[in-house]
Amino acid sequence: MDKYEEIKSHLEARCPELELRVEEPMSRHTSFRIGGPVPIMALPQTSEEAVAALEAARTLGVPYFVMGKGSNLLVSDDGLPVFVIKCCMSTVELLGKTTLYVGSGASLAQIAVFALEQGLGGMEFAHGIPGTLGGAVFMNAGAYDGEMAQIVTCVDCISQRGRVERLSGEQLEFSYRSSVFSREPRLILGATLELTPRDPEIIRQTMMDLAERRRSKQPLEYPSAGSTFKRPAGQFAGTLIEGCGLKGCCRGGAQVSEKHAGFVVNTGGATCEDVLCVMRRVRDTVQRDTGVLLEPEVRLLGCGL
Ligand SMILES: Cc1cc2nc3c(=O)[nH]c(=O)nc-3n(C[C@H](O)[C@H](O)[C@H](O)COP(=O)(O)OP(=O)(O)OC[C@H]3O[C@@H](n4cnc5c(N)ncnc54)[C@H](O)[C@@H]3O)c2cc1C
Repeated sequence: MDKYEEIKSHLEARCPELELRVEEPMSRHTSFRIGGPVPIMALPQTSEEAVAALEAARTLGVPYFVMGKGSNLLVSDDGLPVFVIKCCMSTVELLGKTTLYVGSGASLAQIAVFALEQGLGGMEFAHGIPGTLGGAVFMNAGAYDGEMAQIVTCVDCISQRGRVERLSGEQLEFSYRSSVFSREPRLILGATLELTPRDPEIIRQTMMDLAERRRSKQPLEYPSAGSTFKRPAGQFAGTLIEGCGLKGCCRGGAQVSEKHAGFVVNTGGATCEDVLCVMRRVRDTVQRDTGVLLEPEVRLLGCGL
């Protein structure tokens, strides 16, 4: 029995409700629609299932990777030799008047709509970001002057040593597209969000305006992982890329979007290698022509630039 069969039978015996998939293509779980298979994937719906999955990986010494909706991932065409835990714990509850407790697998859109229904503002910026709470906390996701750091007050997680912990305030170490979790991986179970009472009509209108801004500027008609590169200090990656004449630059099904140069899109059948090839060309040309070294915002798994 190999280690992946072992983890499967271990979890089937101890946690019969936990959904497990074998030889699961990651292309089904990434917004890029790219990525080869993983030997085993668990899809916990509750914190108890997530704890059991992580505990099994630790006990049996099996390498693991924790993900949300895969909207910021580029995965190798050969797949990954790891146990993937895809967090699907999607409860959203109101605690008191302005506080939400949210499972890490809840989508940002679902949380924003719940907040709107309660007349609570603060989540409008995140409504159009296609990830989960866990991925957004990990990345300190942000848009239109908002970022998760403004609303997350504490996070429940499991440390690599298997301890359930609650981190808050400065312990979260939020900075631009980064948090303590990007430096020291832990499995995020859920988080507490502090919101502000606001007229639901104003919240709805703000969400609609931001959605329209996204639709008009971003290539939402193609699979992608959002902004490919981080924003360099004081500049915009998309503007630099466009200025270097790279709009439309392509290899196979991967292309620097004609609509927004900050996005590499999958126009059909792109492989991970196609995307990497376009990313290398963009990084090297921008560095040569402007002196700015672009850093990937997309997380590269099983592959590198
Ligand atoms: C069309 C489009 C538009 C986008 N617009 C924006 C935008 O405006 N602003 C922005 O910031 N991002 C944007 N993104 C990128 C992406 O949606 C965000 O980074 C999002 O927060 C990722 O969430 P996810 O659940 O998909 O995480 P994943 O892609 O699954 O994972 C991202 C990282 O988070 C970690 N992670 C995920 N869940 C957990 C968990 N429960 N515990 C521990 N670690 C975890 C993973 O290990 C991984 O390292 C966009 C993407 C697309 C496709």
